[in-house]
Amino acid sequence: MIPVLRAEAHWQQIDLLSDLHLGPETPRTLARLARHLAETPAQAVILLGDVFEVWVGDDARFAPCEHSVVQMLRAASSRLGLYFMAGNRDFLVGADMLSDCGMPPPLADPTVLEAFDRRWLLSHGDAQCLGDAAYQQLRKQLRDPAWQQDFLAKPLAERRAFASQARDASRSAQAAMLAHADLDADICRAQLQDAGAHDLIHGHTHRPALHDLGDGLRRHVLSDWDFDTASRGDLLRISAAGLERIAL
Ligand code: MN
Repeated sequence: MIPVLRAEAHWQQIDLLSDLHLGPETPRTLARLARHLAETPAQAVILLGDVFEVWVGDDARFAPCEHSVVQMLRAASSRLGLYFMAGNRDFLVGADMLSDCGMPPPLADPTVLEAFDRRWLLSHGDAQCLGDAAYQQLRKQLRDPAWQQDFLAKPLAERRAFASQARDASRSAQAAMLAHADLDADICRAQLQDAGAHDLIHGHTHRPALHDLGDGLRRHVLSDWDFDTASRGDLLRISAAGLERIAL
């Protein structure tokens, strides 16, 4: 059974966004998110993963950049329904971080959103990239609770060094992965049927699009955000009228 998030009665619009890849090098993207959270007419905002470029454990939340994100999300969560689903970069975001942000526990991937008399399937999108066997193997290791416990027991400096090393070593491999890997259509159709939904909404690939999966099933892909080296970012807004893509 796929877990369900039920929209609250007063929600009239729900924003879905992902792949902000926030970090010390993205002050403008962070500011753009802060502005969006302050200005959005939506009553709920759901973050679908890779909010952070990297997350090495909740004890990193006191660093300057991470601390400003905590303050921003805490301010937003006092006015909005604010939810987090982990991506492949920030799957170590834990209870301490979300609690400091005033946010509920993370959404499972995938989760069914029940809103406006419809069911929407929400996911980050990396788990369905079945064509990349090496990545799926790595994902299995990184999501293993024993591996995570072991990693989180290491000193923060060591975890930071590991993450930046892994990032440098795999930068070209990741670029190639993002350019070629895509979600497997069969698994997307199967998940949608399992969820009793017609629309899958996800990020991860940074290739915004609307894919027709046949049988009335659709796959909506979010853009990544970059307001530091570019001016790019979008979101999908759900309301009683349906689904609308909004470029920022
Ligand atoms: Mn991702």
